[in-house]
Amino acid sequence: MSDLSTRRLINVSNRLPVMLRRTPDDATGWRAEPTAGGLVSALTPVLRALGGEWIGWSGIVEEHATADVAQVLSALRDEMGFTLTPVAMTADQRDKFYLGFSNEVIWPLFHDLQSRANFAPSYFTAYEEVNRRFAAVIAQRASADDLIWIHDYHLINTAQELRSLGVTASLIFFLHIPFPQPDIFLKLPWREPILAGMLAYDLLGFQTVRDRDNFLACAQTLLGDTITLDSWEDLVIVTVQGCQVRLGVFPIGIDAAGFERGAATRAVTDLTRQLRTAVGGQQIILGVDRLDYTKGIEQRLEAFRNTLQRYPELRRRITLVQIAVPSRTDIPEYRMLKQRIEGLVGEINGELTHLGWVPIQYLCRSLPFTELLAHYRAADVALVTPLKDGMNLVAKEYCAAHLDHQGVLILSEFAGAAAQLGTHALTVNPYDIDGVADAIAQACQMPLIERVTRMTALRASVRREDVFWWADRVLRAGTLPAYHSVAPALDQEA
Ligand code: UDP
Repeated sequence: MSDLSTRRLINVSNRLPVMLRRTPDDATGWRAEPTAGGLVSALTPVLRALGGEWIGWSGIVEEHATADVAQVLSALRDEMGFTLTPVAMTADQRDKFYLGFSNEVIWPLFHDLQSRANFAPSYFTAYEEVNRRFAAVIAQRASADDLIWIHDYHLINTAQELRSLGVTASLIFFLHIPFPQPDIFLKLPWREPILAGMLAYDLLGFQTVRDRDNFLACAQTLLGDTITLDSWEDLVIVTVQGCQVRLGVFPIGIDAAGFERGAATRAVTDLTRQLRTAVGGQQIILGVDRLDYTKGIEQRLEAFRNTLQRYPELRRRITLVQIAVPSRTDIPEYRMLKQRIEGLVGEINGELTHLGWVPIQYLCRSLPFTELLAHYRAADVALVTPLKDGMNLVAKEYCAAHLDHQGVLILSEFAGAAAQLGTHALTVNPYDIDGVADAIAQACQMPLIERVTRMTALRASVRREDVFWWADRVLRAGTLPAYHSVAPALDQEA
């Protein structure tokens, strides 16, 4: 891990790793609940190891907040291992900045689903306002020697606001989601300010080469010449309209050792056995996703039905366990998706259930960590088929938790994880229902030796390129001096 002993890390994301909820049971009147999602699961162990401060929204809108919110969060410092600092936003800002611009504009557009985007003009004004609020809190907390690491698509414009407040500290941005190609990005009515916002950072981190090259192509198309000054490995230094910026490819990992330790506990082992006993001798195929239209859950259910229709010998021998974690339930599109998925599960089960065998077990809730690990361990096959995904940590968690080396990973070629895991997973096009169905059949019938060979290679990759490896690469690239002295520094490292 990078030596940050002389520099404090300020980590910034839209949400803090805990959300506060009102409760009459607690003395403070607030209960802190862990926030779900890939960003938080990846960054919590990193911050715990490095210390520092995490700035983000507490989940309470200004209208409902009380004066003690900051104290309640600061009291969690010892338990979390780092300081938590809240940023306030009003209910209207939450609706327009978070639900609106972030999740109805950028989220669908950056996942190539532009027809789902709602380009309401008032959303962008709120986006700028909230980015300004984040910048004001960061500027208050940061000193010139701090390293400020800002995460994801909610906070693209925060660097510009920080610079206008006179903040000179190094600014790193990491985009956890994909970056689209120019013909999609150009549809964004606010394409210039968003690109300019990104170029105000010192370092931009992307999940894959595909995302970095898409960003460069968009900058070239909209802003004219991008001049590449130099490049090493996955780091490129460019100037665009006189701004020098470093672009890095840093695929995010997981706390692989932590997952392995968790999966080996007695509680998880016992629960794994119970899950296996409950399905008798059947093979378990597992899907774990936030309930989001980018995850391809409907197409996956269709593919599973197709497998059972075209490979009737697999009926009563396989069960799909689909865990769908409710997400963004304030957005109507997400509520409709839930209804469609539940309708489809009912339809397939109604059509194919036979003599006590129910083809799909559907759980619509978040699972405690022990249960999640037991599901990973019990599953013979993980079906990870997003239509597009920045990385997909579930794919990596499944491999890390599969202590017996026997699971098969079916992975969408449009998940960022395919760049690292694609060789040893069964890769599929999630839109190709027949193709995914064939992969399910292939996985269920795969000889033991092939399963073990593939899973051993997958686990080695997940362990080698874990979340600490990722954070180290980002932070080292973020602390490099300006271009002219970069080359000797990197040579010395080699
Ligand atoms: N997850 C969770 N509770 C659950 C199921 C999953 O916290 O009941 C976590 C899972 O461990 C993973 C994250 O949610 O770390 C999902 O991350 P991923 O990158 O796959 O997708 P994202 O939700 O970030 O789009």
